[in-house]
Amino acid sequence: MALAVGDLAFRSVGPRTGVYAEPGMVDTAAWELADMERMVQAAEDLYGPYRWERYDVLVLPPSFPFGGMENPRLTFATPTILAGDRSLTALIAHELAHSWSGNLVTNATWNDFWLNEGFTVYFEKRICEKIYGKDYANMLATLGHQDLQHTVEKFTGEGLAADTRLKLDLTGRDPDDGVSDVAYEKGYAFLRRLEESVGRDRFDAFLRNYFDRFAFQSLTTEQFLDHLQEHLIEPGNVHVDVKAWVYGTGIPADLVVPVSDKFTKVEVEVERWRLGTTAAELRTEGWSTFEWIHFVRHLPDSMTTPQMADLDAAFRFTGTGNSEILAVWLERSVENDYAPAYERLSAFLTSVGRRKFLQPLYEALIKTEKGRAMAQHIYANARPNYHSVAVRTIDELLDWTKMSDPVTL
Ligand SMILES: [Zn+2]
Repeated sequence: MALAVGDLAFRSVGPRTGVYAEPGMVDTAAWELADMERMVQAAEDLYGPYRWERYDVLVLPPSFPFGGMENPRLTFATPTILAGDRSLTALIAHELAHSWSGNLVTNATWNDFWLNEGFTVYFEKRICEKIYGKDYANMLATLGHQDLQHTVEKFTGEGLAADTRLKLDLTGRDPDDGVSDVAYEKGYAFLRRLEESVGRDRFDAFLRNYFDRFAFQSLTTEQFLDHLQEHLIEPGNVHVDVKAWVYGTGIPADLVVPVSDKFTKVEVEVERWRLGTTAAELRTEGWSTFEWIHFVRHLPDSMTTPQMADLDAAFRFTGTGNSEILAVWLERSVENDYAPAYERLSAFLTSVGRRKFLQPLYEALIKTEKGRAMAQHIYANARPNYHSVAVRTIDELLDWTKMSDPVTL
């Protein structure tokens, strides 16, 4: 059971959907999340009835450490999805999908966490494809693929290859350690591989039956694999190395690499800029949040301050109200020691507590001595307002408890 206590108002956005938030925020939140009813309908069309009667979202203050928490009937969500253009609502599709994968059919142990998250990422992308189209879903899948590659490389480099398995072994560890892109994106990639092998119609029928058959039950990875073998692999004559996907490390070679035409066009613009076209002359009309994220991620590893300033003047990255674009831009700013962004960096880290944003920014900072000092200074101010989940992660990153008198740094 999850409790939220505060001065809350409610706005209905559909017959069985609505938004709770603080009174000053509730109209903004209701506008941003206007597609909720369509999302519930799209989800039902895919995988059967929504069994929890109402689906509401509570928009929490910025210190909330997660994107969303799929409490049945009432998702708790970060306000960082309120971009002002409805571009970050895939997160709501994700939390809604948990009403099937996670809350209806639940992982039996945290070692089976991928059953919750991999299925949910797959389902989320299907909801988004139904509502926003294939281009949107392809961009979402490509960004997820980039996240997976990055995480697998990082874990492998840190000697944590075992954590790149879908089925985890968290014996003696905090279950929170199992929360990485692997459960989400490698889980998605496995299901996407299966879909490709048997065709979408057959795979959808399999999933729909899976949610019915195991509704309101908990499932281990092994129970799922038995079911998969009997109902999809054998009857469909599927040739996928299921054991390699579930128990192996890294990314299997038969992964379906997502392709996005829109991102290919973005890469052309990055290349033009690299070869000397000014940022203001690039063809960026009509770009979505995803295209901007891809653009910033694909900028050269090393950039000069005048180059960063050219981009910033044309696209106002440092001043953007879109948290996802801001977070990737700030990371690039730290990597390239772009001082004009530091005030915003400090303000962002002090006002937002979503761990997905905090962790990469602190990690980027501590790579240099100057950055580490900045990280410690910012953290000393920000730490009292972070949630304990975020504090645990950043404490460890900065060796916080070992420091004698951090506040004076
Ligand atoms: Zn989730």
